[in-house]
Amino acid sequence: MTAVRVGESECGDCGRPVELIAGQVASEGLRWWASYTCAHCGRMIEMDGWGIPEASFREAFLRADGTWGLKIHASGSQAVLALKLLRAELGLSLVETGRLRDRMTGVVTEVTLAEVRHLQQLLGRSGVETSRIRLDAEHG
Ligand SMILES: [Zn+2]
Repeated sequence: MTAVRVGESECGDCGRPVELIAGQVASEGLRWWASYTCAHCGRMIEMDGWGIPEASFREAFLRADGTWGLKIHASGSQAVLALKLLRAELGLSLVETGRLRDRMTGVVTEVTLAEVRHLQQLLGRSGVETSRIRLDAEHG
């Protein structure tokens, strides 16, 4: 689990600028954490949670580890099962699920590295074969 610099935030105690770092990991679910240590008053803060973190954290993870695409190698009932699992996990509407079904032969969703690992674990537990590809490899 690598720590990624999210950017500058404000110390909850003294209000001075602090450097916020965060990380994301797929291990029996999708988890994130964030922390800072205030260089001015010494205050240490740690936060964590489950699921998709707030946008500024995700942007930092995407910058650090790249943007990843999930591919599903399934047909018939396995493909239906994959859609059902993704719909529940990503909170998709029926329309969004329909769009996802239309993309089943390509990249179904573009997410962070930990998120794609999490989706692969989730689908893999139900026997759905998946792979991941890095979508922004050209940019380092
Ligand atoms: Zn402080």
